[in-house]
Amino acid sequence: MAECLFCKIASGVIPGDLVYQDDEIVAFRDINPQAPVHILIIPREHIPAVDCLEDRQAELIGRLFCKARDIARQEGIEAGGYRLVVNNGAGAGQTVLHVHVHLLGGRSFHWPPG
Ligand code: AMP
Ligand code: ZN
Repeated sequence: MAECLFCKIASGVIPGDLVYQDDEIVAFRDINPQAPVHILIIPREHIPAVDCLEDRQAELIGRLFCKARDIARQEGIEAGGYRLVVNNGAGAGQTVLHVHVHLLGGRSFHWPPG
């Protein structure tokens, strides 16, 4: 998707602070971090939102979560706890229409979320 911000970061058209990439997943630091560690994990494939997921993409989405687990360990936040957030739709706070998992850690979190 030529006009998608996260597709542009994944393809290198726009620079990102990348922490991981392979042929199907890219992870980069959030430009406006909400915690000491705030990393976005995305598929290279343009999927606008969770609501647009197809069943064939189930394994890809599973691998996003496994990669979030790996990055949490690399960042040293697994013992202190971390939060994975996926916003779906404007009402839930989604601002970029390309599926992404927020990995947040390095501080304590409250429940319920705001
Ligand atoms: P969401 O609100 O769930 O759609 O999350 C979008 C996230 O993308 C926000 O946390 C933004 O701070 C982040 N973001 C927006 N532009 C950039 C960028 N150029 N590089 C890194 N993160 C970004
Ligand atoms: Zn995209």
